[in-house]
Amino acid sequence: MKIRDILRAAQSSIAGRYIPDARFEAELLLMHSLGINRVELYTDLERPLSGPERSAYWHLVERRLCHEPAAYITGEVQFYGIDLRVDRRVLIPRPETEMLVEMALGFLSHRTPGKALVADIGTGSGAMAVALARLCPDAFVYGIDISPMALEVARLNVARYGLQDRVMLVQGDLLGPLPQAVDLVVANLPYVKQDELSGLMPEVRVFEPEMALNGGVDGLALIGRLISQVGKHLLLGGMLLLEIGHEHGEAVVGLVRNRLSDWNVKVVRDMAGINRMVVIETVPVAAGSKVGTAGMNRPLE
Ligand code: GLN
Repeated sequence: MKIRDILRAAQSSIAGRYIPDARFEAELLLMHSLGINRVELYTDLERPLSGPERSAYWHLVERRLCHEPAAYITGEVQFYGIDLRVDRRVLIPRPETEMLVEMALGFLSHRTPGKALVADIGTGSGAMAVALARLCPDAFVYGIDISPMALEVARLNVARYGLQDRVMLVQGDLLGPLPQAVDLVVANLPYVKQDELSGLMPEVRVFEPEMALNGGVDGLALIGRLISQVGKHLLLGGMLLLEIGHEHGEAVVGLVRNRLSDWNVKVVRDMAGINRMVVIETVPVAAGSKVGTAGMNRPLE
């Protein structure tokens, strides 16, 4: 059987389980199984597969047919152009979350030069922490997660990019373990309402860690606590970027107005026009100040 034929067979089996992008998924698993890239795949379409190659591939396809996400099967995912290790200990980073990285990089690029302090709360695989540290050489990033198992995965990703000296991973609850105030807090916390968990697609419901998804009764349990805590952890001129559930925009703005009354807050939509992110800024620094962002109230390092 040639590569072309087995791909077609895999595509139709995957599509038969109502999994979208069946062709893409079939190719992804085959590239992983054979250890080849996309160009090699396309130039090799007429190559016959050996028996062992065929059965190794079909074993992966069967896992996908049972709705295991391809990222867990291959152990890899791309996030903001960076290759990350993932497994069932962590949520698979989503493309939507790249928007937070984009916004964070914009914020960091407007700071006056000097070391920027960043915290990624609920870092999971370390996706945002690694992307920010890699793309912003002036940044020092704390990656905090309550799950020690998630941090083991994050540690692999930090080491993969040699960022051990600029990304510090800490186990603990939200901002609790943060050792100093920072310029920027980013967080993609769990925000799925508890009673909506059972309605999620099996890829998410069965395979991804519930701890990374379950946002309590209203979905805002963790985001609400983070907003309550953040005041004393952000430096003057600092920013908090939160990924939110699509129906949470107003509620999160309400929480911010309540607890951080004079801070600026706005909801930002994603490219599909869905509320995706809340941007919260501390009181702006007075015009003419040389501080830019943090500065004056920066604690000793
Ligand atoms: N966007 C995730 C989903 O696919 C939810 C992630 C989260 O709770 N932060 O359901």
